[in-house]
Amino acid sequence: MLLRFWGTRGSIATPGPGTNKFGGNTSCVEVVTNSGARFILDCGTGARALGGYLMSHEPKPLEAHILLSHTHWDHIQGFPFFAPVFVPGNRFVLCGPHGCHRSLPEVLSGQMEYTYFPVELGQLGAQMIYQDLAEGVHELAGVRVTAQFLNHPAVTLGYKLEADGVSLLYLCDHEPFWEKLWRSEAEPGKLDSILHGGDRHHAAFMENADVVIHDAQYTPEEYPAKRNWGHSTYSYVTQIAAAANVKRLFLTHHDPTHDDDFLWATEEKARRIVQSLESPMYVSCAYEGCEERFENTAPHHELVETQISDPICGCSLRILIVDDDEDIRVLARKVLTQGGHRVSEAADGTEGLRMIENRKPELIILDLNMPPPDGIEVLKILRSKPETASIPVLVLTARGDEDSTRTSFELGATDFLNKPFTQPQLDARVRSCFARAARAQ
Ligand SMILES: [Zn+2]
Ligand SMILES: [Zn+2]
Repeated sequence: MLLRFWGTRGSIATPGPGTNKFGGNTSCVEVVTNSGARFILDCGTGARALGGYLMSHEPKPLEAHILLSHTHWDHIQGFPFFAPVFVPGNRFVLCGPHGCHRSLPEVLSGQMEYTYFPVELGQLGAQMIYQDLAEGVHELAGVRVTAQFLNHPAVTLGYKLEADGVSLLYLCDHEPFWEKLWRSEAEPGKLDSILHGGDRHHAAFMENADVVIHDAQYTPEEYPAKRNWGHSTYSYVTQIAAAANVKRLFLTHHDPTHDDDFLWATEEKARRIVQSLESPMYVSCAYEGCEERFENTAPHHELVETQISDPICGCSLRILIVDDDEDIRVLARKVLTQGGHRVSEAADGTEGLRMIENRKPELIILDLNMPPPDGIEVLKILRSKPETASIPVLVLTARGDEDSTRTSFELGATDFLNKPFTQPQLDARVRSCFARAARAQ
């Protein structure tokens, strides 16, 4: 498996003398398997140079799967400048998560309207196939591709590609689910010691991977001012990847304000963390032009049935919101009804329990901090009854303490979302919550 970086910058292209080494183009990574299946992970401005390379070096017609993590600008801006899409005979399958309300071609054509760009999406010469991906396992070009939702203020997928005996993950853009990674009294560095269920799930996704390419935009010092912007720190990524027994870690999505000297220093700091954890993992900051080959003789998984359908795509769920804060109920209802769901509301735990019995919701959004019975009590009651024990519950809270996080997960919360949240965050969490609960059954 061949890996090449064409864009390693986050947020906005940052050319100039200060970024010569690590590069100024935004996210774009190329992966080619030994059998010749080509994957392009994100189409930031790095896709322009990749397109030029493919046109001049590769046999025609060209074919590739383009996997978009999400459609924030820095991940799609290179698409209209990716020359192979203008050439008849070429064929591209463009995959990405189904956004909140608009399809992939609708989003992509938005940035190619004549106000912004001279050629429209419908005028591309190549054959373009669009495919919405959900969390789960897919077979693309004969390669097993597993997608999993990341924590970002837009619906965002991380991808695991398995081919040639190698597992490679691309995890951009992603923010820790919880600021504190380890439980207070537990031994750091172990998967079981991770405090938040979301972070544990994220670590399990990359467990034993050969290669992980991960967003590491910030330093721990910068992070508090950038909370909820959807990006990780190098220390979170290094610790969680080492705990997951990852062999090779690339830090990427470099912040536009971090020049080459800064990134050299970041790389050193990440290596010191790895040393202190006595992990054999090798870590470096990804740079434009970086090329590595990975081989593994260990047996890899058999391909499984393709699962293309999003268990919640196109289906309307009965969702109950239990929260004493009317503003939150109004906001959540708006997001969820736009997504086609049937939403009911309860203003306290007692009303919530009554409505759960009467309406049998398929998913519950539950506030923790309410007059008695509070969210913890409601969750306890739900999990103690066979008829409600398996209903997915997304816990919503403004509480930031370790205790309530731990207790919620120990009692069987499916996921945990902090207030304030954005609309796409809630949309992504509801989907992943339901998908996980459906798979667990
Ligand atoms: Zn980004
Ligand atoms: Zn983003």
